[in-house]
Amino acid sequence: MLSEATLVDARVAPRVSADTAWAALARRIQGRVLQPSDSAFASFAAPANTRYDRIVPQGIVLPTTEADIAATLAWAHDHQLPVTTRSGGHNYAGYSSTEGLLIHLGMLTARTVDTNAATATVQAGTRNNDLLDALAPTGLTWAFGRCPTIGISISGYLLGGGLGLHTRRLGMASDTLLSTRIVTATGEILFCDENTNADLFWACRGGAGGNFGINTSFTFQLHPAPEVTVYRLAFDGRKADDVLLAMQDLITDPALLRSFAAQFGAKTSGTRAARAAGNISLYAEGWYYGPQSELETILTRVTSVARPTSTYIAQLDGLRAQRYFSDETASNPFTTTSIVARTPMSTQDAACIIEHLRTWPGSSSGSGASVAFFAMGGADSDPAPDATAFVHRDAAFILAATSRWTAADGPAAPQRAAAWVGGVRRDLSPVLGPGSFVNFPDPTLPRWWDAYYGANYERLVKIKNTSDPAGLFRYPQGIRALRP
Ligand SMILES: Cc1cc2nc3c(=O)[nH]c(=O)nc-3n(C[C@H](O)[C@H](O)[C@H](O)COP(=O)(O)OP(=O)(O)OC[C@H]3O[C@@H](n4cnc5c(N)ncnc54)[C@H](O)[C@@H]3O)c2cc1C
Repeated sequence: MLSEATLVDARVAPRVSADTAWAALARRIQGRVLQPSDSAFASFAAPANTRYDRIVPQGIVLPTTEADIAATLAWAHDHQLPVTTRSGGHNYAGYSSTEGLLIHLGMLTARTVDTNAATATVQAGTRNNDLLDALAPTGLTWAFGRCPTIGISISGYLLGGGLGLHTRRLGMASDTLLSTRIVTATGEILFCDENTNADLFWACRGGAGGNFGINTSFTFQLHPAPEVTVYRLAFDGRKADDVLLAMQDLITDPALLRSFAAQFGAKTSGTRAARAAGNISLYAEGWYYGPQSELETILTRVTSVARPTSTYIAQLDGLRAQRYFSDETASNPFTTTSIVARTPMSTQDAACIIEHLRTWPGSSSGSGASVAFFAMGGADSDPAPDATAFVHRDAAFILAATSRWTAADGPAAPQRAAAWVGGVRRDLSPVLGPGSFVNFPDPTLPRWWDAYYGANYERLVKIKNTSDPAGLFRYPQGIRALRP
């Protein structure tokens, strides 16, 4: 009998300890079964957010075919073992971790590019940098995630909507999806597009991973990779509020909604609060779909407010620009909350954000705390809110507040970090908007279903009821089937 916790959270699991059971699974599939004694186990088991590295699976399956996935689901069903899917393992809230069976798609990395149709078909374990390599000779690009380009998998990013520097020009990454293949809870292998299994296809564009089945491949639209002018500016904290407001003016300027890509924010670090207060700095980066001379004029609206401590501006071809913003993920534990801003921040809101950073409690993590802004409001706003599962079509930007720590900060560090990001949410959400971005999940978010999905949640529940009524795919903020 499965416990109530197990029914809600596939990260809690009864044990399957008989070696013979695992050996039987290994015989049923072409891919590999890893157990904790295998040397490769630890690297596949580790999530990107090390906050969740104590959630260790009993076994890991590395499928190489869709039939492997279907056979694994049947085996897990026979043993009443919860299953969780992982592609890149970058979920902020540890939702690709389990104490049951982890189906890790890291060996499904085949990809093809059709240059005539300007489309790419990639298997679910493909990482952004693999696709960048495949696109390099073609002159085509995709709605890539900004950071970190290295390591992050296309699956989770795309299924949750997918927000990057191309968003204002090309739309959300999920808007570029043309079709996907999915293995359902019962092991059926389905092709989904606008005409076939259209409900599932709708749900796969913003309804988040881990809900409806295991997507094995995606076909999406590519676009010519234009030359862009890249910029990266840094500022000290002296005129922090003014820099945030000047950048907000730029991203909300109607003339720049589709030509000026931006991510900016403020950050701090330091082991004690007093130290962190003095360490605030700001950054603004992205690119402009136009010549350097025009961008330099645009940026004077920020640089006339505060003099940058460093400036980099260069014209680069689209793929080199994408690589320029590649970043490795910091391995410290962290917690994040996100706010979808419909309303621009006021002078008081900007001051409030900087005040939160000034009073951040400090930690030993060199990456500290940050409040980041992801510009939206261009092509991402074109579809209706119910055109796909991604509902936030009226967003001006998404704000993400993150706090990081290390083991040296003691057992209370996660609570301190959660209280800090919670404070940012408490003060800013009432003025900016109630929504939150499912790709930046906050495990403490009240009424997360409204915040992530708004009016689309009802349809997502209906699709869940049809595709996975028994709730095989589940996690604390997963779409729930309505039990009869
Ligand atoms: C440092 C950092 C920066 C980021 N920046 C951005 C950004 O700029 N824009 C943005 O949109 N997002 C960003 N993200 C968030 C990122 O898009 C999500 O964390 C995304 O879920 C990661 O994809 P993944 O495949 O690595 O996820 P995983 O952790 O592997 O999985 C995420 C969820 O999807 C499920 N899942 C995974 N693969 C599949 C599949 N094939 N089929 C069905 N379900 C599946 C998992 O069970 C889990 O519930 C960032 C993340 C990090 C760590």
